[in-house]
Amino acid sequence: MSTPSASAPIAGRHVVRVIANALNLSTPAGLLLAVLGRTRIQQGPDGLFVATGWRLPLPLARAFTVGDVVILRSDSWSERLLRHEARHATQWAWCPLVFLPLYGLASAWSWVRTGDVWSRNVFEVRAGLADGGYREQPLRSERRRRAQQSGTVGDGTRTEL
Ligand SMILES: [Zn+2]
Repeated sequence: MSTPSASAPIAGRHVVRVIANALNLSTPAGLLLAVLGRTRIQQGPDGLFVATGWRLPLPLARAFTVGDVVILRSDSWSERLLRHEARHATQWAWCPLVFLPLYGLASAWSWVRTGDVWSRNVFEVRAGLADGGYREQPLRSERRRRAQQSGTVGDGTRTEL
C-alpha cells in the first residue's frame, strides 16, 4: 500500500487521456461523484486523481474509476490496483459517453458465461484481472464438464447415481 506521488510530470502518453477525459466530461463527472461521496481528493500519478474514503453503499467494488478519477473505499492502495484503474481511465478516453453501457454489457456477458461480472468482461480483462484483485473463473460450460467428469454438480455436491 502506498500514497501517490503527484510531483512527477505527466508522461506524454497520458496527456492525451487526460485531455480526452476532460473534454468528454468523464473526469468532471468523476470529480463531482467524488465530492458527493465525501472522499478526500488528491492528485495522483500520471494525471490521475485519487479519491479515498468512499462511504456510499454502491458500487460494491473497493475501487472504481470515472474518467481520470480513481475512487477508493479505503485510504490506501497498491500500485497494482492503481495500474488497473489507470487502464480503466484509458478505456473511458477510448469509449467516451458509451463506456458505462458497454461496461454493463460486458459485465452481463461475463455473468452469463462464468457467473461473475469480471472473468469475461473485456474491460476488466484488458485492465488486468490480477492487478484488480480478481480471480478468473472458468466458463460455466467448463465447470459443468469438469463436474460431470468428477461426478459432482457445479457447486461441488456429489450427484446421486
Ligand atoms: Zn476493474
